[in-house]
Amino acid sequence: MAACGRYAPSPTGRLHLGNLRTALLSWLITRLQGGRWLLRIDDLDTPRNRPGAEASIVDDLSWLGLHWDGPLIRQSERRGIYATVLSRLRRSGRLYPCRCSRRMLADISAPHGAAPVYPGFCRERAGGWGPLDGRLPSWRLRLSPGPLCWPEPLAEAGECCLDAATQVGDVVLRRADGFIAYHLATAVDELSLGITDVVRGEDLRSATAPQLAVMRELDGTPPRYWHLPLWRNAEGQRLSKRDGGQGLESLREQGLDAPAAVGLMAASLGLVPPGSRLSSRELLEELSLEQLRAVLMAPG
Ligand code: GLU
Repeated sequence: MAACGRYAPSPTGRLHLGNLRTALLSWLITRLQGGRWLLRIDDLDTPRNRPGAEASIVDDLSWLGLHWDGPLIRQSERRGIYATVLSRLRRSGRLYPCRCSRRMLADISAPHGAAPVYPGFCRERAGGWGPLDGRLPSWRLRLSPGPLCWPEPLAEAGECCLDAATQVGDVVLRRADGFIAYHLATAVDELSLGITDVVRGEDLRSATAPQLAVMRELDGTPPRYWHLPLWRNAEGQRLSKRDGGQGLESLREQGLDAPAAVGLMAASLGLVPPGSRLSSRELLEELSLEQLRAVLMAPG
């Protein structure tokens, strides 16, 4: 299958340098395989969307020379596809309605302090799909027991696995507020867009197993997942979108041009010496996929 990658930001604010470095790596990993690279805007969670964020994402990627193939894709314009998949899964009996509140789940998971794994309370409870006391249930996918494994080129073993029952738990595919859940939309998109390489920050590694579970239900082949180390500031904290000072705008204000910005991102990974200036195309021509993989796997 021809390679196809995507960059899939949520339009919740301006991208910071860490986000842009992920975009650069996603573009490089795809282009080094001669693949198509797509830009998808994950804008389903509308209350979190910020006006102007999508335009700034488009501007920043274009300024860096990270050009995508085909039209920009918005999840908000694909709601019909997600709804069709959801009804199919519901008809097949793989989903169940769940009325457990977030609060209740937080209470049971609090003592462990770890990411909560849904214990399956509503699995066997006969509950309707309609409103109760004015509230709708969320729709959960009943996970089959056993490991969920995905190809991970940056892992020593070449794959990562999580146990469905103890480490993942039944996944919400439609939220109680009626919103399509991120895991459902993302899994459907990776399959329907023919994505072979998902490149994203390692903070999203835990999202992979739920998405894989959905792909399995849909009889799809999962992509390879490249989970990248996050860019941390001098204090060891990860950059955040709220940290406006770490976006391209402030670099541009300091007089940096695109070759300097690409050089800065590439140097932060040790791909080029500090102070290098080069376009993203020049960086692409200097690298091989194997070399890039080795650098990304090196500790530190
Ligand atoms: N849109 C989400 C984010 O920006 C997920 C991205 C992804 O799956 O790559 O955090």
